[in-house]
Amino acid sequence: MKIRTGFVSNSSSSSFVIEQDQYDNVFELAKRMIPAREWPKDDELINIIKSSDKDPNTSIFFTTCNYDTYIVRKDGYFMVSTCNNHDFIGYLGKTCPIPRGFITKYNLNENYPQEDLEEVVPKLGKFWLPEYNLMGTIPPHEEGEELWCKEHFQTFWLIEGTRICPVCLNQGKMQIIHKQPLNRFDLMDFD
Ligand SMILES: [Zn+2]
Repeated sequence: MKIRTGFVSNSSSSSFVIEQDQYDNVFELAKRMIPAREWPKDDELINIIKSSDKDPNTSIFFTTCNYDTYIVRKDGYFMVSTCNNHDFIGYLGKTCPIPRGFITKYNLNENYPQEDLEEVVPKLGKFWLPEYNLMGTIPPHEEGEELWCKEHFQTFWLIEGTRICPVCLNQGKMQIIHKQPLNRFDLMDFD
C-alpha cells in the first residue's frame, strides 16, 4: 500500500476514466496515449500494437515515466492508471469524472477516488505487455518483498506462474524487443 504523502496534484501517478464510446477499443486509446511519452520507442511500440492479432480490447500495459500505464475496458468505460508527468489528459481531452458506480464497486475513497483507482486498475486481471511480448498479472504483494526490479526500474509481474521482472525475463530466454535494456532514465526528457 502506498502512503499518501501530499495532495493528489503533487503525486506523479494519476488515473482517469473515459467513456467507452470515445475510442473504438483499448488498443486505439493506447495508440493515442503513447505519443504523449515523447520517447524514441513510441513508433516502435505503436507498430507492435498495430500488427498484433490480439483482441483489441485486451487490457494493456506500457512503460511511462515514474509510474507505468495500465488500461482496462470495463463497465462501459476505459479505466486508465498512469503517470501525470506526461500530458495524457491534454492529449485526450475526453476524460470524465469517476462514475459513482466505480466508487462503490471498487471500494474507492469518496474524497480521493482517483488515488484509489490508480491502485485498483493494475490489479484488474491479465495485461498484455507489448514492449516485452508477454501476458501477465500483477502478483499479490507479500510483506517484505521487493516491488521493483532495481536494475530495470520495472515492477515485478506474474508471468506463467513466475514472479519476475519482464526485462530480466526478456534478456534471459525470450525474444528481445529492446536492443538495449529499457532504462527509463535514458528515455526520460528532463528539459
Ligand atoms: Zn529486471
